Amino acid sequence: GTSGGRRRRVLLKLSGEVFGGGKLGVDPVTVQAMAEQIAATVGKVETAIVVGGGNFFRGAELSQSGMDRSRADYMGMLGTVMNCLALQDFLEQAGVETRVQSAISMAQVAEAYIPRRAIRHMEKDRVVIFGAGAGLPYFSTDTVAAQRALEVRADEVLMAKSGVDGVYSADPKKDPDAVMYETLTYDEALLNNIRVMDQTAMTMCKDNGLEMRVFGMEGEGNVTRAILGEPLGTRVTV
Ligand code: UDP
Repeated sequence: GTSGGRRRRVLLKLSGEVFGGGKLGVDPVTVQAMAEQIAATVGKVETAIVVGGGNFFRGAELSQSGMDRSRADYMGMLGTVMNCLALQDFLEQAGVETRVQSAISMAQVAEAYIPRRAIRHMEKDRVVIFGAGAGLPYFSTDTVAAQRALEVRADEVLMAKSGVDGVYSADPKKDPDAVMYETLTYDEALLNNIRVMDQTAMTMCKDNGLEMRVFGMEGEGNVTRAILGEPLGTRVTV
């Protein structure tokens, strides 16, 4: 919940698959719909967004095919910035003020990552979009979502998923007995190897008391509802 009488503040994690609709590159129809759902919450909730980049490059995959891992990871991070700019554009078209903050300096397209400034932006009803991950190879944007949420003091991390509507006991596409959890603890997820987000990210949330909600972005108005605090999908707690 919110503390100190201030507005609810959320950190929304959008993975690359959300941008690409499962393909390489950016699907403008999907990004526009996402932007409009976010726009509907502006003024009520403060939102920062961490953007993934798997629709362009994943460092681990490129290094499997022979590239240097660190350089491949930098390519991955640069991919996230393209997603940021696409989302920024559609948010501004929907009438929302935005700022992109990048962990790799590229002053022509993004501010530097300055957490206190990010908070000020949100207080002024601007949506802040964090790009380039942590600026560090060997990290994931999931881990960055946890870290940014903690640093800007978000109340909750919201993980928007494509193709599933929460966390299941087994793969719902393969196992008819799979059930969706309404709540789950980080320890349960870690012990049972349930891949809600990567282990580093879950450990960071757990150690710092940060709650998370995993929800499906496909349902009507789901992104809006999750930002506003409706209990969609699975809540992950300490
Ligand atoms: N990446 C990185 N450091 C970071 C964040 C991302 O090196 O702090 C790289 C990494 O190669 C990763 C790629 O950027 O595979 C895209 O990010 P991610 O896989 O987390 O995106 P998502 O799965 O959310 O689409």
